[in-house]
Amino acid sequence: MSNKPSVAIIGAGLAGLTCGTALQGMVDNVRIFEKDVFPGGRISRFRAGDYEFNHGAQYFTVNNPLFWNIVSAWQNEGIVRPWDGWIVELQRGHITNSDMSTQRFVGAPRMSKIVENLARHCDLVTSTNIVELERQESGGWRLFNERGDYQGLFDVVIVATAANEAVELCRSVADIRRAADNVDMTVCWTGMFAFERPLNLPYDAAFVLDSPLSWISRYHYGEQQAGADCWVLHATPEWSQQYVASFRGRVMNALLDAFWEATDLAVHKPASASVHCWKHALPINPINEDSLFDESKGIGACGDWCTAPRIEGAVLSGFSMADRVMKYVRKHHA
Ligand SMILES: Cc1cc2nc3c(=O)[nH]c(=O)nc-3n(C[C@H](O)[C@H](O)[C@H](O)COP(=O)(O)OP(=O)(O)OC[C@H]3O[C@@H](n4cnc5c(N)ncnc54)[C@H](O)[C@@H]3O)c2cc1C
Repeated sequence: MSNKPSVAIIGAGLAGLTCGTALQGMVDNVRIFEKDVFPGGRISRFRAGDYEFNHGAQYFTVNNPLFWNIVSAWQNEGIVRPWDGWIVELQRGHITNSDMSTQRFVGAPRMSKIVENLARHCDLVTSTNIVELERQESGGWRLFNERGDYQGLFDVVIVATAANEAVELCRSVADIRRAADNVDMTVCWTGMFAFERPLNLPYDAAFVLDSPLSWISRYHYGEQQAGADCWVLHATPEWSQQYVASFRGRVMNALLDAFWEATDLAVHKPASASVHCWKHALPINPINEDSLFDESKGIGACGDWCTAPRIEGAVLSGFSMADRVMKYVRKHHA
């Protein structure tokens, strides 16, 4: 075996990119495979004509000291900034509470900047859906995409997908498959609406009570949408589950109706309207393990489903995974 092993990471979300970045220089080659056209996973942007939206993660908070250090570095690089928007609690048009105490951060100029920045330093292969991991008797893993095309032989494989996808990929690794299979995920219908004239809502975002919606947030990005009032709407997990198989048009109308009811505004016709269903939005019962690694086979798994259902959780899981791989490399490839 060479001194420095090769590593494949499946999934270019925040956990996979964090792990890949931390492993740079420590291993021979770290290649990240992503099934989508762009990296980012649940931190991504949605384009609808001239408009764009953060339709996944909206902001993040910081609790862990290691994550504080990372966020400080991101702030120095100018890819995140504190969010000083006015965030309220809203009940049928009435502001019932105002939350100014929580320190929140957002990507600058958009959430996806965080992952775009990490991806710049990585050997990233996009539009490649890995469906088969084949363990070699002599050690290592051969990877195949959904057309059966061979994607390379790697000493170590890290599965950095959502839990449901990890179950499929890790079917030959009993401990990881079982752990991932125990994790339940919420569904989240998201509406993205642009209005040509300002709605003149005084707040920037709201946690919504007694509504099919749980969250609404104004989104401003770039000159093309200057003057337009763009809003992202997240439905509650319960409502989203109930409507998971519904037609998009029906969901769009229902979300918009709920928006008018929550804000107590008169109905306006949007200039642009889109919906997206996050079928695996947030892990309900993460496994509290930071990351998983099977040393005997050289395969691991990380992601927010290991730690906590948020950006901080995904980053810390990615770091934990990189740390375990480095220890493994020192032990087996010295
Ligand atoms: C609607 C919504 C709102 C949210 N709001 C917030 C918030 O306000 N604050 C906060 O902190 N967090 C929020 N989150 C959670 C946060 O986005 C996630 O915790 C975090 O992004 C998870 O990162 P991850 O790397 O673990 O997983 P993911 O982002 O899911 O990344 C996994 C990646 O693996 C790829 N992949 C999967 N299978 C394969 C395969 N077979 N081959 C190749 N690639 C594959 C996927 O395409 C994806 O890019 C929100 C999430 C959603 C959905």
